[in-house]
Amino acid sequence: MGTIFRIVLYAPDPATAAKASRAAFDRIQELDNIMSDYKPGSELRQLCGKAGGPPVKVSEDLFRVLAVAKEVSTRSDGAFDITVGPVVRLWRRARRRHELPDPERLAAARDLVGYEKVRLDPQARTVQLLKPGMMLDLGGIAKGDAADQALMVLKGFGVTRALVAAAGDIAVGDPPPHRAGWRIEIAPLEPGGRHLTRTTDNGERTASPTQNRFVPLHNAGISTSGDAEQHVEIEGVRYSHIIDPKTGMALTGRSSVTVVAPNGITADSYATAVSVLGPERGLKLIDSTPDAGALIMIGSGDTMHSFESRFPPMQPQ
Ligand code: ADP
Ligand code: MG
Repeated sequence: MGTIFRIVLYAPDPATAAKASRAAFDRIQELDNIMSDYKPGSELRQLCGKAGGPPVKVSEDLFRVLAVAKEVSTRSDGAFDITVGPVVRLWRRARRRHELPDPERLAAARDLVGYEKVRLDPQARTVQLLKPGMMLDLGGIAKGDAADQALMVLKGFGVTRALVAAAGDIAVGDPPPHRAGWRIEIAPLEPGGRHLTRTTDNGERTASPTQNRFVPLHNAGISTSGDAEQHVEIEGVRYSHIIDPKTGMALTGRSSVTVVAPNGITADSYATAVSVLGPERGLKLIDSTPDAGALIMIGSGDTMHSFESRFPPMQPQ
């Protein structure tokens, strides 16, 4: 999945810790082999190879992720959409070459985008991609899911106090002993860099008190989507690796969206969705999602605007 997974856990003895973490990493590897769009042999790539054809039977793992992806697409009015594959591919090339994608190719790629072009049949556990050339990209959801799945494997070994982190996509189980939660730190908009003046919106949503935020969490997922690590500057404009599926354009400007949700797959996918939707529509979506909360930081010039709702959301004890 193009990242490093880290597991922190509490176990009764070193042997259990080793066995449990080994099994959890194996599970992550298994999911990578299914969901990767880099590996030509992945189940995902094989499915995309049959785009335009009849329904294809898929594994439970792939179906689970595709089903959640579809629900998030519907709820976000297509802001989150895993069919962005063909467009993402053009922007990846743009990042390497430092030049914008060719408008004609971009238009052709955009014709292949649309979550309604993915048909799921839960009974038969089949997936049908309606147009030849369609490509699915699970980059905005698979890491959160893998973190959830790794936690479940650990639980099978009796290890419930654990944290699984795939860079900015984190899932946590029970807290460390004698603690209320895992302490997650959210990086400021400009890591290690310039101080931005902070302004916040008014109304009932409250201001974030400082640049660094710490969130105590247990049995939840937390994800940050942003362009801090993956972006390209072309003719003075900064383009993110997140795409607006409606326009086929990469998001511009500096932003960081952190979502807390009951699990990793939800946090991961909604963080991407809210990045596309922006503060107003994004927070509305979050407010209508049970037990979710979000912190949005947007940079413009030397100013940072922050917006938040239920951040962090109330957690069951
Ligand atoms: P990160 O990969 O940094 O954790 P995200 O979770 O936001 O960030 O995922 C971004 C990745 O998701 C992109 O690299 C791309 O593969 C894919 N993607 C881009 N735009 C969208 C979108 N609108 N909906 C779903 N996936 C997207
Ligand atoms: Mg995401």
